[in-house]
Amino acid sequence: WTPAIADLASLVRQSSCAVAFTGAGLSTESGIPDFRSPSGLWTKNKPIPFDAFVADRAVRNEAWRRKFVMDESFRNALPGRGHRVLAAMAAAGHLTGIITQNIDNLHQDSGVGDQHLVELHGNGSYATCLECRHRYELDWVRARYEAAGNVAPDCSACGGPVKSATISFGQAMPEAEMRRALDWSLTSDLFLAIGSSLVVHPAAGLPVAARRNGAKLVIINREPTPLDEIADLVISADIGDVLSRLADSLDLPLRH
Ligand code: NAD
Repeated sequence: WTPAIADLASLVRQSSCAVAFTGAGLSTESGIPDFRSPSGLWTKNKPIPFDAFVADRAVRNEAWRRKFVMDESFRNALPGRGHRVLAAMAAAGHLTGIITQNIDNLHQDSGVGDQHLVELHGNGSYATCLECRHRYELDWVRARYEAAGNVAPDCSACGGPVKSATISFGQAMPEAEMRRALDWSLTSDLFLAIGSSLVVHPAAGLPVAARRNGAKLVIINREPTPLDEIADLVISADIGDVLSRLADSLDLPLRH
């Protein structure tokens, strides 16, 4: 894949409105498992659909139990090489923005500001009431959950169900974020899909929309994806390795 780095660097140099689209594969280097790799979360637990969460307290109890287990790896995670290169690319004007499916807050932790970031699937570092949108910190939820004997707490303002601020399967996509992501995608001239199996919709429609509207499509992922055949460049290698080499080619300074 070494010659591909030169091609990638020249696509980035030629582009004036590139977008990065990131998935769980970007954060495996930070110790957060992805969904669909052989050791991914999907093989351990099927995700809990939104309707089941809302309908049944026993399901909410289980959702929060899993969340607290998962949170051990999320809390200690630090941005990896990929996050740092993308932050440097945004700072240097190489990217209009980063559209992420990740919920781990690692783009923000690597220094990417709101003006350069769209979170399509929410953020797992806090919770909200599904009725009145009141925000709760995870420590508050955990203290209530444990004090009640592992029972999911309700909103203290309105009694509604409290849920991690992420988008579950079957839950409506956040409208403003989806609009901004679509806008960036349709106006991009280069779309970099990084660390995503590109099977979760509607997010996976964005690379297709960008490609149809004339953007070059680059896929960086160690496993094949369904969009490889319409991509202009596919790099099947480790994301940290590829993006570090790209940063070297572009002479980008990285924050430590
Ligand atoms: P996915 O798990 O479906 O796909 C990840 C892809 O990344 C896989 O194809 C895998 O082969 C590849 N990959 C993993 N590590 C890699 C590496 N170091 N180098 C190159 N490729 C690598 O992830 P997805 O497409 O983002 O969809 C999963 C959904 O689950 C998303 O909607 C996301 O919200 C959620 N999720 C998020 C996190 C997170 O925030 N870090 C983690 C797990 C799941």
